[in-house]
Amino acid sequence: MIHSLAAWGALRDFAASVIVWTRPHSAIPAGTVDNTIFIDPELSEAETKCVLMHEIIHLELGHVGCQPTSVEREVQLMVARRLVQFDDLRRVAGWSNCPREMADELGVTEQVVLDRMATLDGDEIQTLWPPSDHIA
Ligand SMILES: [Zn+2]
Repeated sequence: MIHSLAAWGALRDFAASVIVWTRPHSAIPAGTVDNTIFIDPELSEAETKCVLMHEIIHLELGHVGCQPTSVEREVQLMVARRLVQFDDLRRVAGWSNCPREMADELGVTEQVVLDRMATLDGDEIQTLWPPSDHIA
């Protein structure tokens, strides 16, 4: 597993932030009110890292309260770009095409792997899966 400290390192920029280890709502595993980030303590390490980065990005963007679906989607894509570097994705894609397996190796959730793939441009897709590897 790749141990990325990106989420925890990013938190340093928000020194006034506090993490409270409690699930904020039955329907959501994490949330932020002012500078307090609430996180379900029952999440896995990978889930915790991903939801923490998600909440940090909300703080960075100055979001307050619930956000529209389109904003949440953009935050999800930002989380994926920050937590999964292209070179790491390329290395893992070299031996696996299973998102669950890739997620385990990258230390993120399967959804973050899928979101990262959604951010790829054509050149990046060609790099990960060269046309010569395709079956006609
Ligand atoms: Zn959110």
